[in-house]
Amino acid sequence: MFRNSKLNYLSVFTIGYLLLSLLSLPFIEHTLLLWLFALFHFCWFGLASSMYYHRYLTHRTFKLNIFVEYFFLLGGLIGLGGDPVKWAAIHRFHHQNSDHDNDSHSPKHGFLWAYYGWVLHHDNALIAKLKKSHAKDLLKIPHLKICSNVAVESIPHAIYIVVVAYFLGIEFAIVGVIFSCLMSYNFHWMLIASLCHIPFFGYRRFDLPDQSRNVKWLSFLSFGEAMHNNHHRYPNHINLSSSLLEFDFVNRFVGFLEIFGLASDVKRVKYEK
Ligand SMILES: [Zn+2]
Ligand SMILES: [Zn+2]
Repeated sequence: MFRNSKLNYLSVFTIGYLLLSLLSLPFIEHTLLLWLFALFHFCWFGLASSMYYHRYLTHRTFKLNIFVEYFFLLGGLIGLGGDPVKWAAIHRFHHQNSDHDNDSHSPKHGFLWAYYGWVLHHDNALIAKLKKSHAKDLLKIPHLKICSNVAVESIPHAIYIVVVAYFLGIEFAIVGVIFSCLMSYNFHWMLIASLCHIPFFGYRRFDLPDQSRNVKWLSFLSFGEAMHNNHHRYPNHINLSSSLLEFDFVNRFVGFLEIFGLASDVKRVKYEK
C-alpha cells in the first residue's frame, strides 16, 4: 500500500533543500570549529532518530528522564525527523511486514525505493490510519500529539537556522546544521532501510523470515542501527550487538545515561552463542 502513495511535495522540497547544502561545500572556509559544530549536530540528530524515535518511542526499550526526552525530541524536530508518531507507526508496520509486498520500505521493490523513494511518497490518509492502528499509545502523549502538525514539525528547524546564521554565520547554518541533517537522514534512516535488507551486504546472525542483515561498517556511522538482523531478532531490546566487534553506540550512550539516573528500566537481551 505504501507503493501506491502519491509523491509528497513537502518531502521532495525537504530532500531538495538538504541536498542544496552539498553544493555549498566547495565555496566555504573549512575550519575545525565548523566541523566540530557539524559533528555535534550529526550526533544530536542521529541520537534523536536512532535512540529516541527508534529505540525509545517505537520499541519502548527503556525509560527516559523527561528533560532528556525533550532535548532529543527537539533534536528530532530541528533535524527534520518530523512527526515522531508517524515515524514510529511506519517503523512498527515495517517490523510487522518486513520484506512482504506491503512493507513500507523493502528493497524487494527496488534499491532506490528502499533508499529514498519511500521517504518521498507519503499518503496523508494512509499515515493517519497507520498512526491510529500502530501508534495509538503514542498519540495519547500530549507533547507527541502536538508534533503531528506540519508547522510544529518544521518551525523549530526554521527558527534554529535563522538563529545560527545570525550569531555564527551562514556557513554554520548550512554545513553545521543542514548538511549534518542530510548525513543523518542518509546514515540513520535511508541506508538502514535499504542496505540492511539486501542479501549481499553484511551477514546474518539469525535466520529470520525477513531479509535483514548486519552491516558492520555502517554500524559505526549509524550508531549501531546497522546491526539490523540482530534488531529484527530482538526488536524490543536496546542492545543490538552480540559481540565486542559489533558496535552499538546507542546502547552505550543509554548505559551512560543510566549511570546518571537519566535512563532506567533498560531491556537488554543476553545473546545466545
Ligand atoms: Zn528492517
Ligand atoms: Zn526497529
